[in-house]
Formats: sequence, C-alpha cells, structure tokens
Amino acid sequence: DSTLVWLRRDLRVFDHVALHQALQDSHKVYCAFIYDSTILDALPRQDRRVDFIHASVAEVDAELRQMGGCLLARHGDPLTAIPALAAELKVDAVYCNHDYEPQAIARDAAVAKALQADGRAFASFKDQVVFEKSEVLSQTGGVFSVFTPYKNAWLKKLDADPSVIAPYHIEPHAARLAPPPSPAPKLPTLKQLGFEQSNLAELKIPTGMSGAAQLFEDFLPRIAHYKTARDFPAVKGPSYLSLHFRFGTLSVRHLVRTVVDLMARGGGGEGAPVWLAELIWREFYAMILFHNPHVVGGSFKPAYDAIEWETGEEADELFAAWCEARTGYPLVDAAMLQLNQTGYMHNRLRMVTACFLIKDLGIDWRRGEAYFALHLNDFDLASNNGGWQWASSSGCDAQPYFRIFNPITQSEKFDGAGKFIRRYLPQLKHLTDKEIHAPWVHSRMEPLKYPGPIVMHDEARKRTLERYEVVKKVK
Ligand code: FAD
Repeated sequence: DSTLVWLRRDLRVFDHVALHQALQDSHKVYCAFIYDSTILDALPRQDRRVDFIHASVAEVDAELRQMGGCLLARHGDPLTAIPALAAELKVDAVYCNHDYEPQAIARDAAVAKALQADGRAFASFKDQVVFEKSEVLSQTGGVFSVFTPYKNAWLKKLDADPSVIAPYHIEPHAARLAPPPSPAPKLPTLKQLGFEQSNLAELKIPTGMSGAAQLFEDFLPRIAHYKTARDFPAVKGPSYLSLHFRFGTLSVRHLVRTVVDLMARGGGGEGAPVWLAELIWREFYAMILFHNPHVVGGSFKPAYDAIEWETGEEADELFAAWCEARTGYPLVDAAMLQLNQTGYMHNRLRMVTACFLIKDLGIDWRRGEAYFALHLNDFDLASNNGGWQWASSSGCDAQPYFRIFNPITQSEKFDGAGKFIRRYLPQLKHLTDKEIHAPWVHSRMEPLKYPGPIVMHDEARKRTLERYEVVKKVK
C-alpha cells in the first residue's frame, strides 16, 4: 500500500506528523506540494512569501532526495490537483496536517470527498500546534475566550503529558520514501509560476528548515533578555521566527521542548516563560478562529459591528496616508515603512499602527487587517485577525475600547532615542531625541521634507470615545 503526503504549511522533513504516520502505515510514500493557484492568482507578481515558499520547497526536495525520495511540486487548484496526482500515483491514501482556517477546512473536506469517491482514504493530523481545537478547555468544559486562564490550562496540560511534544521521527522508515520517477521531475521556477523575484534575498531573510534553525540558534542566547528587549523596535529582541511558524519550516514541538528543557535546567531567565507565552498566544488565536469562524470579517463581540467607521473620500485619503507612511507621526510612519520595505513589523509597532488607524483615524479595522494580510511575510489569518480585533477592542480578551495609545508617548517610551525612526526616516536624522517623536511641535516643518500630522491625537481620541459609545448602548 502507498500514501501521498500533501505538504502545505509544514515545509520540513523532520518531526512531521503526517510524514511520520505515512511512513509507519505504508510501504511506499510520495510527497507533494501544490502551488495553489486559487491563492497565488490573487497576489501581486512580486511577493516575498512566494519566494520564501519557493526556496523552502527546494530545500524540502533536496532533503528528501538525500533520503532517497523527492518532492513532486505542481501548480493548480488542489481540489483537482491532489485527486489527479493520487490517481496518477495510484496511492491508497493521502495524508496531510490539520489546517484550522475556515477556507482550508472547506478545501480539505472537498479534497477528502473527491478522494473517497475514487476509493482512496484521506487522513489529517495535528502538527501545527501543541494543543488544538477543544484540547484545552476550562474546568467546566467550556472554550476559553480569555488568554491567561487558557495559558494556565495549556501549561498544566503539557505538564501532565509531556509526550505531546515528543518528536515524530522520519529516519527509521525513510527507506519507504518512493524514489524519484524517471525522468526526474523538476521543481517549477518562479517564472513558470508567473512570479518575479522579490527583495527577500536582498533582505537576507533566511528560508527553509536551515533558515529556521539558524534563527532559533541565534535567538536562544538572547532568550533570557526577551522579556525586556522584545518591546523596543530598535533592539534585536524577538526571534524573527514568525515567517517560519507560518510555513512550518520549524517544528513547534521542537521549539517548546527546547525551551521547556532549558527552563527545567534553570536556564532561560525571565525571558523564556514570556516567549513560551507568545507561542501559546499563537495557539490561542488558532483555537479562537477554529471555534469562532465568524471573526473572519466580523467582530468577535458582535456588538462592535454597530460601530460606524469613517468612510468616503476623506477616509480613503487618511487610509492611503497610513499605508504610505505619510501620517506625520514618525513612529507610525517608520513602522509602515518597515512593513512596506521588508514585510516584517515589530510586535509593538503592529499594536501602535493598528491602534492609530482605528482610534486616531477612525478607519474600520478590517481595512488595516487586509493591508497587513497582503504585506506581512508572516501573515497568518488567526494571529492577524486576533491582533486587529485586540487593537479595535472587538476581540476576545482585547484592550478596552477607552484605552487609546498615544502615538507620541509610545514613541518616547519604546524608541526614546529615535534610533528606529532614524533608520526608516533619514530626513529626521538631525532632530534631537526629544524633537523626533513629534517634529511639528518643535521644528519648522518645511525644510524637513516630512508631512505634518494628519490628525491631532487629542481631538481624535475624543471622536473615538464618542464613536464607541454605541458599544455601551448595545450592551
Ligand atoms: P517573537 O516575539 O519572537 O514571538 C515568537 C512567536 O510567537 C512568533 O513568531 C509568533 O508565532 C508567536 N507570537 C508572538 N506574539 C504573538 C501574538 N501577539 N499573537 C499570536 N502569536 C504571537 N503574528 C503572525 O504570526 N502573523 C500575523 O499575521 C500577525 N499579525 C498581527 C497583527 C497585529 C495587529 C498584531 C498586534 C500582532 C500580529 N501578530 C501576527 C503577532 C506578532 O506581532 C508577531 O507574531 C510577531 O511580531 C512576530 O515576530 P517574532 O517572530 O520575532 O516574534
């Protein structure tokens, strides 16, 4: 019997549940990746994520070849491509790992149906997270909607059964990998996929399993300082692993195991538990999305859908200024430039820019969410939606609506010396550390080649409090 392993957001060949299981269950195992035209067709022709996937797929193929197998890569709609490939290879089953996004769930159900109609089995496994769906519940059996008790229950569950983070080895049965057919298949080039190279390589963003390993190795010696360092965008504080989490070039079990072991040996300082908590946030949002698919396009707390956002030409202009880093608030603009130029944005700045768009400009959070979705290398539906609904106060465990970040205070607090701002806005370089956070207060604007503020924060704040009144009324 033979199995086809369909790789999606799990681009690695170690500690991989579906691959491990296929090698256990059958004597011949093929591996495939489908460049999904239903996703790719909608993207601009230069996209850092496509470059990242392309490079990571090549590494998966190279690793599989080392083990005697290969990766079959196709371009098309998986709905037809997977059943067609399964028929071509005459496999008995298709295995993959769970995906929790509503569209992916629907896609997998349709693929499973098509395969089953053809007499083939379909199975999928938990791999992307340590705990999924309804595995972490409250004492009364309810789904959590507040993070801290979820985190505590998550940690307790791991403590009770550490085997959930044990590795799923590939090597023992690697001989069961089907050898490459002849003539040896070639992976499609970016050009064949209809894409041009982005600036990913220029940015030196490491790709594939080797890239993830390199970043994690670089981060581990810094993890003890994570608690404090993570909040300052000019400091190399976080791990920069989000893109690798997104595409599964790393194993979350391996990372959690490493950090838990480090803490058990008394290492990792104050930073390790805080970093672990961030990984739990990721699983929290995946769980929230799974149980509440209405958060795609709608507020987690439906009362917040009664809010009336700014619309029309003026709002469009404000939105464009935000996207194009012309708000006149240096920290906001520097953050948007970081996103536009690199596809990454520091977590503190994601909070600041999201809050600014929603609560200073009065723009619907869904417009910002969509902009991030297009530009973030690490775009993940669950985490992005969770982050935006946190900022708009419409989410589960969100910041209260009356908590409105002051973009100037945030700038003074988290980029006090203006180091991050100067990196992206060299025209403000010569301003003093005091002036740089709100140049219009101190300088003559004209010679700066930098716009004045598009809104005054204090006035915007008042408008936002009025706008959110409706939430109180609905309740
Ligand atoms: P680290 O600080 O090293 O954290 C390690 C890992 O933990 C991250 O790689 C990520 O997988 C996870 N993580 C950290 N913080 C969060 C969080 N708040 N929520 C969920 N998971 C988290 N993260 C995404 O991965 N994709 C997104 O599309 C995304 N959109 C966001 C939008 C907004 C408005 C906000 C406020 C946050 C968003 N985040 C998103 C969460 C967070 O900003 C990024 O995960 C983080 O900045 C990535 O950098 P890092 O890998 O260096 O993080």
